[in-house]
Order: sequence, then structure tokens, then C-alpha cells
Amino acid sequence: MKELKNQLYINGEWRPASDGGTFQVLDPATEKVITNVASGTVDDAMLCLKAAEDAFPLWASKSPRERGEILRKAFELITEKLDIISNLITLENGKGASDAIGEARYAAEFFRWYAEEAVRSEGHLGMAPSTGARVLVHQKPAGISVLVTPWNYPAAMGARKIGPALAAGCPVIIKPASETPLTMLALMPILEKAGVPPGVVNVLPSRSSGSVVGAILRDRRTKVVSFTGSTEVGRQILHAAADNVIKPAMELGGNAPFIVCEDANLEAAADGLMVAKMRNLGEACTAANRIYVHENVELEFVERFIKKMAKLKMGNGSDASIDVGPLVNAETRDKVDYFVRDAVSKGAKINLGGKKPEGKGFFYPPTVLTNVPDSADCLSDEIFGPVAAIQTFNSEMEIIERANNTEYGLVAYVYTTDLKRGMNISENLEFGMIGLNRGLVSDPAAPFGGVKQSGLGREGSKEGMLEFQETQYISTEW
Ligand code: NAD
Repeated sequence: MKELKNQLYINGEWRPASDGGTFQVLDPATEKVITNVASGTVDDAMLCLKAAEDAFPLWASKSPRERGEILRKAFELITEKLDIISNLITLENGKGASDAIGEARYAAEFFRWYAEEAVRSEGHLGMAPSTGARVLVHQKPAGISVLVTPWNYPAAMGARKIGPALAAGCPVIIKPASETPLTMLALMPILEKAGVPPGVVNVLPSRSSGSVVGAILRDRRTKVVSFTGSTEVGRQILHAAADNVIKPAMELGGNAPFIVCEDANLEAAADGLMVAKMRNLGEACTAANRIYVHENVELEFVERFIKKMAKLKMGNGSDASIDVGPLVNAETRDKVDYFVRDAVSKGAKINLGGKKPEGKGFFYPPTVLTNVPDSADCLSDEIFGPVAAIQTFNSEMEIIERANNTEYGLVAYVYTTDLKRGMNISENLEFGMIGLNRGLVSDPAAPFGGVKQSGLGREGSKEGMLEFQETQYISTEW
């Protein structure tokens, strides 16, 4: 496959790691090695910083319109190559074809959205009330930005950062997850063709994430760190950013409640849960993790939901008829299996699935659990797999309290036909995003992000670009 790039991409050139090191990338459906990828070192990280430093003045001085046109071209080129990008996503991540195409489109949309935002960076003009001095406020590119991304969306998590960074005028160094570096590497010739100059986007896959990212964060040239991944690693990166006073943007873990009220349209709620739970096989920070159904409608809702789950076909995601591919690796699959066994040992009932298959590939079947006790570990940790853990509730007050009873605050879902009730529950939920009668909240036009231990800052929308900008204020008189 000619799109398979497996070297570091620094200053517009492909190169091996400075010590010649590599690491393996596996196909999770077959457990076979796809290729060996160059494993960046601290020396390579310094080359990336130098390339970004040299590229910064030219990129920042391009007019917003020029930057916007390049981003727009990137959107068009990615859209032309959706099948190639989505095949690569499936190959290294495992997700099924429709999820992979959905992700490739979603990734492309960040380039289109930020092509449009690049020309809309706003400032303002005011007057200091006591002195009459003029207050001129504008946004400047923050500078070299390091982007660290997870494996669950190999294209989209990077695009969601590269788009706004480039629109703002910042050069970037991106460190993709070691499980899935190939998609991001394959995007580089596309960005090059779109007109992104050498050094503006550098890709540094590495097995030694801690030391390589750590070295970049200790360097005074680095101005922004934008991280998506687990809360645990996010905290370490925040510590390192604090030592060097680097601007952080953190998209961390979630533990989303999905609330089905007594008056909900149950068919719509079951469809919404299929998206909130099964999109990306549940390997999403936005995945419905704790499902609360009003006790008066539990039986009917669960029956409808199981019917939909039972129709899903599991297998190698490269087959277009497959809905459920493998999970990304053995560790993720075994953790999902542990959550099911733990819940069952504490009294949960398996209504569907629940058995780890034999044979090659990190597969786990769509699973529905009911009677899940509060003590089950899957309710306090991210399941990150196709397992729906269902509990019941009986009052609005109770469900708000239970939904908020988590250290996370990324996204919550509420289904009700009563708008007043829906707004009341939504406004009382301590989450950065609410899907009210919707199982999907992600959109380039919307500010994606969480509160509490789910993160700091927002991606997408206008807010996403501010993460890569510094406000400058000029005081003057005339
Ligand atoms: P992870 O935290 O293990 O890894 C994320 C990235 O950080 C990878 O590139 C990894 O190589 C790198 N990394 C690991 N240790 C590091 C260190 N010490 N220093 C610097 N970099 C390091 O997360 P993951 O397992 O790849 O992804 C799953 C997690 O990501 C889940 O918790 C999920 O909720 C979260 N996530 C959050 C969002 C969001 O937008 N909030 C989106 C997707 C995934």
C-alpha cells in the first residue's frame, strides 16, 4: 500500500529515528504486524522543535485567508481520499468500515471548519473609563504547539488540533498513539499537497512517549500542549507544562450517564443509545458508560435496545458488512472482559453477549447487562468497549445526583419528551456537554470538552482556536 508511511515526518522530510529504533503496529483483527514504525527519540524531538521554530515566522505571517485556503484544500483532498484514510483507520484501529468512514469525514470537517474560522479571528476596541486611553485587543498565534493524541480516533483527534493550530498561525509537532500512528503519517502527503510548508506540521511517533514529550515540554520554545487521552497521563503532562508555564488544553477521560426518563420516546432513546454506546465500539470518551432507565419503562426499553444490539455483526472491520470490529489491543479487550465478569460476580445479569470469543483478534461481542449493582467497577471506570451497563431510577432529583456522582464531567445524555424536564436535568448536570434527545454531540461547530477530571479547554468551534492564540492588548492614546 503506497499510503503506508512508517518513518518520522520532520521538516517536510521522511526520516528514520536517529537511533534506528522502530516499533511494531498490529492489525487488531488478525494480530499480524502491519509494519514497523520509526520510534522517535529525544534527538528527533529536538529536530522537530528546530523545524517548527524555523517555520513559525513564515506561517504566522501568511494572511489568514492564505492559511484558510490551504486548510480548505486539505479538506477537499482528504474528502477525495476518504476510502484510503478510512481503510487505514480500520487496519490499525480495528473499527468497522462505517465508523472509519465516519471518522475520516469528521476529521476532514475540522479542516473545513477552521478554514472558515481562520479569517474570523476577532479582537475588540474599547476605552479605559478612568484615563480615556484606547484599549486595542487582538489575538496572536501562541507559538510552537505539541499535540498528543490517543488511538481511538487516529485521524480525528489529530485533525481537531491541527486545524485550529494552523488556522491560528502555529506550527505543530504531533505525537500520535503508538497503536495507531499510520493514519496521521498518511495525512502528511495530503497536507503537503494542500500547501502546508515544511516544518509547519511534524509527526513524531515514538515508543518512548514520556521522554520524548517530556523533552519537548521542558523546552522554552514550546508554548502550547494540547493533549487527548487518559486523565492519568493528562495529569503528568499538566505537571510538566506547569514547570515551563506552557498553555495546556486537556481532553481527558469520561464516564457518561445516559438517562432515559419515563416519558421518553423509547424507540428514539434506544436508537440514541446505539450511537452513544456503539459508535466506535464504545472506545470513545463520549461513550454512554452508565445507563439509567426509569423503572417504569425499563423492561420495554431494554427489549427494544437488545433487539438492535443483537442485529450487529462482528468480524474483521475490513469487510463492509461488519458492524463490530475488534477492540484495539489485548489489554483493552481483557479490561472489558474483566468489567463484565466483575459486574456478574456482584449480581448483574447478562442479557446478550458477555463472552470473550476464542481465536485471533481482539474481539468482544455487543453485550447488555441489567441489574448492575452500584459496586460494579464498570460504573466508576471507563468501559471502553461494547458493553451496556443498565440500572434503573425513579425520580428526577435522584438521577441528577447519581449522574453527577463521578469525578468525570465530559458528556451526559438525557431522553425525555418534556422540554422543561430535559432542560432542568441538563442544567443541573455537571458535564461540559449534554446530548438532549441526541446520542451524538461531536461536531466541529461545537465546543467539545469537559469539566472536573475530564479536562480543561475546548476543541472545535470558535473556542478551539483560542487554545492556540494569545491575547495581546495595546494601550494607546490618539
Ligand atoms: P493514553 O493517555 O494512554 O495515551 C494518550 C497519548 O499519550 C498517546 O499518544 C500516548 O502514547 C501518550 N502518552 C502516554 N504516556 C505518556 C507520557 N507519560 N507522556 C506523554 N505522552 C504520553 O490514552 P489512550 O489509551 O491512548 O486513549 C484512551 C483515553 O483517551 C481514554 O481515557 C479516553 O477517555 C481518552 N480520550 C479522551 C477524549 C476527549 O476528547 N476527552 C477523546 C478520545 C479519548
